[in-house]
Amino acid sequence: MLSIVSTPIGNLGDITVRGMETLRNCAAIVCEDTRVTGTLLKLLSLNRKELISMHGYTDPRKIDGVLDRLKNGEHLALVSDAGTPGISDPGYALVHRCAEENIRIEVLPGAAAFLTALSGSGLPINRFLYLGFLPMKKGRKTLLASFVGQEQTIVFYESVHRIERTLLELADALASQPTRVIVIARELTKLHETFHHTTVAGLPDLAGNIVKKGEFVIVIGPM
Ligand code: SAM
Repeated sequence: MLSIVSTPIGNLGDITVRGMETLRNCAAIVCEDTRVTGTLLKLLSLNRKELISMHGYTDPRKIDGVLDRLKNGEHLALVSDAGTPGISDPGYALVHRCAEENIRIEVLPGAAAFLTALSGSGLPINRFLYLGFLPMKKGRKTLLASFVGQEQTIVFYESVHRIERTLLELADALASQPTRVIVIARELTKLHETFHHTTVAGLPDLAGNIVKKGEFVIVIGPM
């Protein structure tokens, strides 16, 4: 069986009891970066485990090796560096192959940055559109322009390197809707967790002043 285990996005306390038990008891852990998962295990006082690194585009033969072990009855866990595997992280290819080959999986839910941001945003979240990371070049402009008519809350990830540029581009793309609400969630679950509430009109100011450190989620209220 493959257990898909969510791990914390910053605050170690957010690992679940079930997640700890599974990481303790499984035969090996399929992970993204063995150093990151090794550090997590150490911080959680879990004993050393065999770690199998599997990046987004890992050689399908490596996936075959993992599938063989699962078919032989081994209990393996799948984690990513942080949060929920498969959410803007590797994991999809392995879970897809498990589904194709009728290999049993179980999912242990936990932290995901976009859900945490939505939950604290104060924006309507009964319906929302999750976009992962925006494309850097092809299709970016068209996508940003499409936000103008979007009636659902939109949520996406942004890195520290592009946060200023993206906020300025959003200000441009949504210039016809100056009162539309934007929330930027920074460093969720960590010491410097901050929710910045602004509007499209306030974006240029925020772009200049926001602390350019850590991790960001951008939430845009409905039109
Ligand atoms: N699998 C993760 C999840 O379930 O949320 C997402 C991984 S994705 C590679 C990393 C991006 O998620 C970061 O660039 C940032 O946009 C967002 N993120 C992750 N942790 C965060 C945090 N503590 N605070 C704000 N954003 C975070």
